[in-house]
Amino acid sequence: MESLDKTARSVNIGVIGGGFASLSAACYLAKAGYNTTIYEKHDMLGGRARCFEAEGFTFDMGPSWYWMPDTFERFFEDFGFDVRNLLDLDLLDPGFRIYYGKDDVLDVPANQDQLKKVLEELEPGSADAYDRFMQDAEVKYRIGMQDLVETPCLSPLEFCNLKVLKGLLRMQLFTPFDRFVKRYFRHDKILRLMEFPVLFLGASPDKTPALYSLMNYAGLKLGTWYPQGGMHQIVKAMEKVARALGVQIAYNSEVKAIESSKGKASRLVMEDRVVDCDIIVSGADYHHTEQHLLSTSQRNYSPSYWERKVMAPSSLLFYLGVDRKVDDLQHHNLFFDTDFATHAHEIYDTPKWPSDPLFYVCCPSKTDSTVAPEGSENLFILMPIAAGIDDDEATRARYFDLIMDRLEDHVSHSIRDHVVYSRSYCVKDFVQDYHAYRGNAYGLANTLRQTAILKPRIKNKTLPNLFYTGQLSVPGPGVPPSLISGKVVASQIVKEYPLNLQQ
Ligand SMILES: Cc1cc2nc3c(=O)[nH]c(=O)nc-3n(C[C@H](O)[C@H](O)[C@H](O)COP(=O)(O)OP(=O)(O)OC[C@H]3O[C@@H](n4cnc5c(N)ncnc54)[C@H](O)[C@@H]3O)c2cc1C
Repeated sequence: MESLDKTARSVNIGVIGGGFASLSAACYLAKAGYNTTIYEKHDMLGGRARCFEAEGFTFDMGPSWYWMPDTFERFFEDFGFDVRNLLDLDLLDPGFRIYYGKDDVLDVPANQDQLKKVLEELEPGSADAYDRFMQDAEVKYRIGMQDLVETPCLSPLEFCNLKVLKGLLRMQLFTPFDRFVKRYFRHDKILRLMEFPVLFLGASPDKTPALYSLMNYAGLKLGTWYPQGGMHQIVKAMEKVARALGVQIAYNSEVKAIESSKGKASRLVMEDRVVDCDIIVSGADYHHTEQHLLSTSQRNYSPSYWERKVMAPSSLLFYLGVDRKVDDLQHHNLFFDTDFATHAHEIYDTPKWPSDPLFYVCCPSKTDSTVAPEGSENLFILMPIAAGIDDDEATRARYFDLIMDRLEDHVSHSIRDHVVYSRSYCVKDFVQDYHAYRGNAYGLANTLRQTAILKPRIKNKTLPNLFYTGQLSVPGPGVPPSLISGKVVASQIVKEYPLNLQQ
């Protein structure tokens, strides 16, 4: 523990980036009394969850699934705010639709009894199996999200207390997710319903530990929510909290280097200025912070370390404004009418553009009249692809046609002829906008070898006052984990550099 020879409010913390993790860290640090400033590359906060407006449409650029509402509640509660006063939240019902093939869809009801009825019709006995599966998933969710998730994972000793060890045993770290799900269900449609959260959040089900059934509990039991106005409203709410706590925000402020003196990180260098800092937190992509902002001797990890890492997928995205209503879509629509395993193989094992991809369509205008002009539809289309794959306009256009063919076949009318606004976003954009290593969308894959203590550590090994937060560190990818990541790093700083607030 080091005491800072300064009055509380003059301990300056510079936070690089304005994504969820940085914003969260900044809020906790400001609340603890540090003078905290965010330096964000763009003219808006939110990082991967930015939004943009075009032709009367408002597009969320990244996250669209509001899962784990309790994490958001706790975050805002920590600062004395009620999430219900900051966000206008709706429980979506159905939570989402799975499209298995022509005229073959499954709407996933929010109501548990209705959901079990749907499952039972597919596979007799699966309603009971669902209850047993969810009892186990709930235990994992409680242990994972309460006892383990706020562990800084700097030392294995953190796991050496009885409660945590008992919890770890329940988490089934060594059982693959796909094998675990098959203990409960056999019907292919139910298996795909259960496997999709892990596939989309970053690893194939055979390489993901069974602990991630906690995601099924989050998605199916706690429900799929939506903040009116779009997911970026969460960012705006956090910005409000940050400002109320005194966090300063510098937009259009890309950090080009972290300089050090006397064995400590001491300055953030930007194009037009240099700022002195007592402590630095980087919420920019971990690889970028290490490989581009620090000198070689100060990096925790070498280029070959990163080459060995399994990245979660990148994505090909399309933001479309359509000047008519699109039939037969829900708010969230998963097109699982092709083989899961083949697509996963083409993302993780032999990375290439997928031969027969599954994809996801979000149509927020189905439940939110503010994101599209009247009579129009806002479409966000996401196709997961291998990180680091070659990305060019011709390939994007080819996949646009392929997706449109399947979508139009499903809705039985033309969409292409009604597109009044179109923008694509892919690997190159992730690299350019976020300095994302290999253009990753969601950080590291959730494999056992990249879990907890095996993730990139939150502290620099050479510069004791340099910390990392964000989806590439603990606890991992997703909006709720990013909020927790900020809290974890802030708690570590408070522990190592306590302030005497009486000063
Ligand atoms: C397409 C997509 C869909 C997703 N869907 C979901 C979903 O439905 N639900 C869910 O929970 N999660 C989802 N996620 C994941 C979730 O969005 C991320 O895990 C989370 O937003 C990551 O937050 P972060 O703070 O770690 O990183 P980021 O959001 O990337 O923030 C990092 C910030 O640092 C800034 N920065 C980078 N370099 C510098 C620099 N040198 N100087 C200054 N600033 C810099 C960047 O501009 C950025 O603002 C999705 C992600 C994507 C991309």
